[in-house]
Amino acid sequence: MKNSRRQFIILSATGATALLLNSKVQAQTMVSPSDPEAAALGFVSDASKANKAKYPQYAAGQKCGSCVLYQGAAGSADGPCGLFPGKHVPSNGWCSGYTKKS
Ligand code: SF4
Repeated sequence: MKNSRRQFIILSATGATALLLNSKVQAQTMVSPSDPEAAALGFVSDASKANKAKYPQYAAGQKCGSCVLYQGAAGSADGPCGLFPGKHVPSNGWCSGYTKKS
């Protein structure tokens, strides 16, 4: 009886730890500029490196952190983007889907 209680506690703690680690890993999956969907939108991890010839709508100062599709907390280094479900974009990134937050 005592042994099964100990096992339950150990297994519960192990399961909780695994869930925490899993959610942490998922939260940190970043969009890569080489992902096909990202490349099609001209995504860059550093907005200053946006292809200005291909995307003339880019203007200095535009970045994910000020985009209406950015779902990260204010001041966060990265966060989810509505265009890339399940992944994060850096707040300093940019893509041609940029729409300024009003
Ligand atoms: S849609 Fe906005 S938040 Fe998403 S990658 Fe493009 S610029 Fe960044």
